[in-house]
Amino acid sequence: MPTPPPHQPASRLRQILEKVDGRGYKAYNDIRGAWGLDHLTLVVDHVQGDPFAAPSRVRVFLTPEAARLPAHLLQSPPRTRGVAARLARAFAARAAQASRSMGSGRSGEIRMEAPGQEVLETTAVRITKDGEVEARFRVGLPARGRRILGKGCAELLLATVPELAWNSLRAEAFDAGDLLLHAETNEDADALRDELSGAGLVAFVADGAILPRRSGVDDRPLSSSQAVPFHSPDELRVTLPTPNGGPVTGMGIPEGVTLIVGGGFHGKSTLLRALERGVYNHRPGDGRERVVTNPDAVKIRAEDGRNVSSVNISPFIGTLPGGRDTRSFSTPEASGSTSQAAAIVEGLEVGASALLMDEDTSATNFMIRDRRMQVLVPREGEPITPFIDRVRDLHAELGVSSILVIGGSGDYLDVADTVIAMRDYQATDVTSRAREVARAHPTGRLPESPRPLREALAGARRVPLPESLESAASRGKRRMRLKVRGEDAITFGSEEIDLGAVDQLVSRCQTRAISEALLLAGRRVVDGTRSMSEVVDEVMAILEREGLDALGHGHDGDLARFRRHELAGALNRLRTLRSG
Ligand code: ADP
Ligand code: MG
Repeated sequence: MPTPPPHQPASRLRQILEKVDGRGYKAYNDIRGAWGLDHLTLVVDHVQGDPFAAPSRVRVFLTPEAARLPAHLLQSPPRTRGVAARLARAFAARAAQASRSMGSGRSGEIRMEAPGQEVLETTAVRITKDGEVEARFRVGLPARGRRILGKGCAELLLATVPELAWNSLRAEAFDAGDLLLHAETNEDADALRDELSGAGLVAFVADGAILPRRSGVDDRPLSSSQAVPFHSPDELRVTLPTPNGGPVTGMGIPEGVTLIVGGGFHGKSTLLRALERGVYNHRPGDGRERVVTNPDAVKIRAEDGRNVSSVNISPFIGTLPGGRDTRSFSTPEASGSTSQAAAIVEGLEVGASALLMDEDTSATNFMIRDRRMQVLVPREGEPITPFIDRVRDLHAELGVSSILVIGGSGDYLDVADTVIAMRDYQATDVTSRAREVARAHPTGRLPESPRPLREALAGARRVPLPESLESAASRGKRRMRLKVRGEDAITFGSEEIDLGAVDQLVSRCQTRAISEALLLAGRRVVDGTRSMSEVVDEVMAILEREGLDALGHGHDGDLARFRRHELAGALNRLRTLRSG
């Protein structure tokens, strides 16, 4: 946790900057180290190679006396995380305003990773129990051409940056109640999520929640004039306690098999997406602050073209044409149905508690085979056991719930415990009506599960081999190439990992942290004896013990907490993955 390294006086930094003024860019290396200013310590960790490269990594530390964050804001980890996210948002916004071009390339740029709608533990701003604040960001050290602009740099580091820190990292920089709201909202969300399993629920959507977003690329809430607030059906309404907000009412989605039905454009996918994101907390004003989902709920979708490595998809897909066994199935280019089957088995492998699926992103032949198709194409000619014939066993045998958006196939009414209908963005409970319909209109469909699920999954212990990660690392290089593009792609040595279909990855900083975690897994964890779930367990345990700074350079500001499921998602999509 934050504690600034021993530092030298700021006057010394000023002298050095005067001395290196006009010299070549490399001379900036002289300002590496820690510098003490009045109330804060400035640390230059890494100096960029030239003014066009990624800006230099810088930190500031504020003493508890300077930050003056009241103790009650920091009395629990979720409170502290809520406050840290608020400070980071403030710092990032002010940094963007304070940035201005001071010369060539990125000279004068100041940039912190701004948190999105989700409140994640990140390395951008961290606060200790006793209220010391550390902020990590990047500064483009100014130059004209490759000549150092020492005066400009002194102004930037000794005036602009301290002012920025002063105006965004102290309690007094915020309106009364602002930080408290962030602390309490975040603590309440954790508390609500903790209530779920005791109440027999997979998810909870509070009355009044705003689920729709502005657009596919804008995750902020739809404006209040356009959005219809969520209102629970009476049959599903539950009341859960929160430490700060008192009792909260809303829709509880029970464990078991739940369908979300309704006509097109009535809000089904919007509800499911809110549930996907309910594994994370949300910032005040997001609309989903009190939408919480079991922390191990995993979104499953079809992803044709993805790589699959030695996955036992036999519970869903039996022997393929040509007699190809599917108990250890590999392909560089999965179909819709095989990719969806693999995603489920991979999810179960690392402890998924619930599966979330939307027909919009599912393979039809994976979800259902109706009566007529069963007659036309006999069982022997169809390797797929459709999900409808496994969904009940998933819950009965493994305790894994499913929440499915199904607008098109009434056959699913036979297997549902709960049916929620969306109409004009309003949820109603149509479970008993669905039972009547199922009785009155039998489908004539024959169940197709050939073997019990547990038996079909047995012996599926996959052990990733060390070469999986080594072969991707470019040999002979000092440090392998590691890059992320947005949330959705990782360059891992010679390999590109496409994470576009890993829907519960919500920030670039998570993706960055996962890319580093893969590197760590290759160095410290994957040993050819640990299974996939043991590998993931161990990486998560290291992060628990050592914190996010176990990743990257040790003081990066662009790392965020991720779940085991998204880490496994990345490892499973690595095309060089080989298992024994
Ligand atoms: P479906 O999956 O049922 O076809 P969607 O969830 O995709 O429907 O929603 C269709 C449109 O309605 C989307 O543009 C979405 O933003 C909007 N929408 C969804 N829920 C609400 C709501 N509660 N209030 C206002 N608009 C909504
Ligand atoms: Mg939809």
